[in-house]
Amino acid sequence: MISEPDNRTPAPTAASRQDALAAGLSCYYVHNARPARPNCERVAIVAYGNIALCATCDKVRSAVGRTNTAQRLPGAELHQLITAARALAQAEHDLARSVRQARRAGASWAHIGDALGVSRQAAQQRWSTQDQPTS
Ligand SMILES: [Zn+2]
Repeated sequence: MISEPDNRTPAPTAASRQDALAAGLSCYYVHNARPARPNCERVAIVAYGNIALCATCDKVRSAVGRTNTAQRLPGAELHQLITAARALAQAEHDLARSVRQARRAGASWAHIGDALGVSRQAAQQRWSTQDQPTS
């Protein structure tokens, strides 16, 4: 896929920070992005000291964390948030590309505004900076 310059695409630093966060929310039994236990859910939801566990591994834990109290982690919620943010970024990228294609095909800003459910002016203000230069 050819990448086009698009100022709405998230910066690489945002994606790498999301990856780092996701990696930090992994269950203790995930090694090299693969769960070492068959029913491990990968995303840690509770921590006992330095040991973070997913719900399944927490249920079957034996000695892990016996001396520590459980601390609830927002792992599942943060993973859901990362997934939603990535879907939104992809949707915005797809929307920008579709607007450019519609403009190249001759669609007016009024048509684009109608398609997006916004006014002609709102569509033009939001998308005109991404318009391809014309003759
Ligand atoms: Zn697990």
